[in-house]
Amino acid sequence: MHDAELQVALDAVRVACELSRHVRAALVTDDTLTKKDRSPVTIADLGVQAIISHHLHARFPADPLMAEEEADVLREPANAELKQKVLEHVARLQPALGEAEVMAAIDRGHHRGGASGRFWTMDPIDGTKGFIRNDQYAIALALIEDGEVVLGVLGCPSLPGGTLHQRSGIGAIFAARRGQGTTMSGLGHSASRAVSVSEVVNPADAVICQSVETGHTSHGRAARIASRLGITSPSLHMDSQCKYGVVARGEASLYMRLPSKTAGYEEMIWDHAAGCLVVTEAGGRVTDAMGKPLDFTLGRTLKANVGVIATNSRIHDRVIAAVTAVIAEG
Ligand code: AMP
Ligand code: MG
Repeated sequence: MHDAELQVALDAVRVACELSRHVRAALVTDDTLTKKDRSPVTIADLGVQAIISHHLHARFPADPLMAEEEADVLREPANAELKQKVLEHVARLQPALGEAEVMAAIDRGHHRGGASGRFWTMDPIDGTKGFIRNDQYAIALALIEDGEVVLGVLGCPSLPGGTLHQRSGIGAIFAARRGQGTTMSGLGHSASRAVSVSEVVNPADAVICQSVETGHTSHGRAARIASRLGITSPSLHMDSQCKYGVVARGEASLYMRLPSKTAGYEEMIWDHAAGCLVVTEAGGRVTDAMGKPLDFTLGRTLKANVGVIATNSRIHDRVIAAVTAVIAEG
């Protein structure tokens, strides 16, 4: 099932990973960092969206796409230089794509989602703060059919291929199809291996993975949950859906995304669709903080859910009990 879709998604994400690495290497200097210049992120975001959208449209022209970015910023006369850079980066990898094709490809990502039919959802650069810091970020692409994620590909250009401690072979791509497991491959080749979640059964032995940004998750609540569960290992802090990848390959047993200060924040579906399937197909479980399944049928956000908890499945119920107890404390 979905063999052609997987092949196209993998090809698209591989090319997109190359673009993102090139933008990062060419444009982000210490100077741009200190000046807080966000243009490298914009170039990578729009370049990746153009490439992936183009790949999908070429093979599945009837499939709608819901993507994070819009091309309007490139239509502003003041951003002519920015547009030129996006076009150059895309053309380096896909010489056939000129300005009209790039703009059309980016514009195609406006689908609103919903409960019926099939559509793709994409976050071109997930974890932009990690991208700027030269840390972790991900290119996330998922296919949703009648509200269910059926395919997810996560490109993690800066994630070590083996484990976080094995620094050789940087870059990993996770791929999952519903009912068919999760695989991981390097960026430059298609040889892949199956990955599976950790075998930890006692929550006290779990390693937690969570966002770097305190605005995206409550580190305070995470510490209280860890203490209730008897977890003493230090947490892994990481940007982007790479967190789902490290749970899927068993390096962490628990990814917690807990409602933080920004009460009422609705998670965007492109921030979770691919990662969610990558974890569940590796044997894990993903729910919201209350233990409810993630509901991808409601448009661009997970408006029926609060927070996200991804585990190796074995510890899930006990983690949810601790999470709900700590949230109830306030
Ligand atoms: P992470 O890298 O896991 O910390 O999350 C990055 C994602 O967090 C971005 O793609 C944003 O869509 C999302 N985000 C932005 N604001 C919030 C918020 N207040 N709470 C949770 N996630 C957020
Ligand atoms: Mg994102």
